[in-house]
Amino acid sequence: MTDRKLGFVGLGRMGGPMSGRLIDAGYDLTVYDTNRSAVDAAVARGARAAGSPREVADAVPVVLTSLPTPDVVEKVALGPDGLGGGSVIEIMLDLSTTGPGTAKRVAEGLSGHGVQWVDSPVSGGVTGAEKGTLAVMTSCPRSAYERVEPIVSTFGKVFFVGEEPGLAQVVKLGNNMLAAAALVLSSEALAMGVKAGIDPQVMVDIINVSSGRNSATQDKFPRAILPGTFDFGFTTALSYKDVRLCVEEAEAMGVPMLGGALIRQFLAITKAKFGPDSDFTSIAKVVEEWAGVEIRSKSTG
Ligand code: NAD
Repeated sequence: MTDRKLGFVGLGRMGGPMSGRLIDAGYDLTVYDTNRSAVDAAVARGARAAGSPREVADAVPVVLTSLPTPDVVEKVALGPDGLGGGSVIEIMLDLSTTGPGTAKRVAEGLSGHGVQWVDSPVSGGVTGAEKGTLAVMTSCPRSAYERVEPIVSTFGKVFFVGEEPGLAQVVKLGNNMLAAAALVLSSEALAMGVKAGIDPQVMVDIINVSSGRNSATQDKFPRAILPGTFDFGFTTALSYKDVRLCVEEAEAMGVPMLGGALIRQFLAITKAKFGPDSDFTSIAKVVEEWAGVEIRSKSTG
């Protein structure tokens, strides 16, 4: 089946550009967000607005969601006026990071409404969402995968993880814990360099052709920390949520995650100091404060 009519709920930093790509690819989109200005922006790009998730699910068979936290995903799926009550919906495809526990619970709740759950978290940040270069990890029954694959390939490279709900979420949590760990440890290494009198730009350039290179030194430092803009586009609250979920799920599985527990505390400190809405590159500011240095390239002062 080729779906041309889609729903999209959650038009934020990620959902905004992802829904925009679908519109540009010729899909007919019905959208909802609690933030009116996000809806207005999508309508200006060609989408039609609905008044609730339920209204979206009354209009189209496949609804994508990109929502901040597991409780919001659960509410949008199964709450009053949620997607599950819709008369036309057949598939809810969730692009959010929720963890496998929520994925399994929502999948079960939706199956009671005859709606198929697809979990499809993404990695690659706002830039990846804009350019269509995300990693899209998907778990759902094969038949549903064949139906949604052409849709999610609009966002980037798609990986089929398995048929059980939540499997793709496990991959995503592992990845995001590693991304946060890279940011913490790279901040510590760079702070040491600055304290020794080295231009951090020079140190980043060297690391990026050496064995210590990682997503923080290759992307976050050049883009948001060395210039001092701290505007990578991912909030501390969401990164904290991801690492917390990762450590909790690992613990429930009997997998030790000592390093992960440390990264979780680091994010808790960053959230307490700079607020939940701060950019998660603010992790570097915590290290800077403790070390008494600023990790800025010489050219940006
Ligand atoms: P965001 O906060 O920018 O966007 C979330 C959107 O959901 C907002 O527009 C908000 O108004 C809307 N919303 C909140 N409650 C709602 C409700 N009840 N009904 C309808 N809409 C509601 O978050 P984001 O950065 O776009 O992240 C979205 C998801 O993608 C999260 O789960 C996040 O962990 C994940 N993610 C983010 C990034 C990133 O770099 N920002 C990368 C990969 C994955």
